[in-house]
Amino acid sequence: MLEAVGRIVIFLALAFVVLIALALIVCALALHTKRILFPNFLLFVTSVLYEPLRRLLSFFHVDPTLIDRVSIEIRNLLNYTEFSATKMEERVLLLPQCIRSTECPAKLSPLDGIHCMECGKCAISELSTICKELGIRMYISPGGTFAGRILMHSRPKAVIGVACYPNLHEGMLNAKLMGVPAQGVPLTTTGCVNTTVDREEIIRRCKLLQISK
Ligand code: SF4
Repeated sequence: MLEAVGRIVIFLALAFVVLIALALIVCALALHTKRILFPNFLLFVTSVLYEPLRRLLSFFHVDPTLIDRVSIEIRNLLNYTEFSATKMEERVLLLPQCIRSTECPAKLSPLDGIHCMECGKCAISELSTICKELGIRMYISPGGTFAGRILMHSRPKAVIGVACYPNLHEGMLNAKLMGVPAQGVPLTTTGCVNTTVDREEIIRRCKLLQISK
């Protein structure tokens, strides 16, 4: 009996190691080739084994955010068809307040977040102008919980979310639960204020499929 239990434990441990190794290989391939094989499998594995995978990468001195980057890309890929079928005016760009300058003069509305005055002191100014040109509604959220409130208020058919990795994971999951296809763009530097973003990438996500329409 004990021998049988021992074999089962060894088998499960080996299966665990093989699964982690497979996930890491597919992640590395995805980043290298820009093509994601078995996205649903990979998303499942990276979600279930999120912490062990990150620790393993750190142990081998590999940047652990590789897991975050891949899983955001998978979510973007899985949401692509539904997202790109929406019209520009049905989309919402949701930004975090940490992008703002410390001298930001914008005021907070309890209903729909911070109203940018396009003062030019941070990247939001340009994004606001482009969103107006495209017909996309732009919101600045003072926090993760508030972001949900903004989505309830604005009722978009698609959302482009910008945030740090943990907030992006949570936000994209919440958007999925609300039935709103999301495209996520991680911050390029994180923190509480003066964080930076990849403006070109945000604009590219906002415009998805407009070219082929
Ligand atoms: S551009 Fe908008 S968000 Fe940025 S600092 Fe000025 S008012 Fe604030």
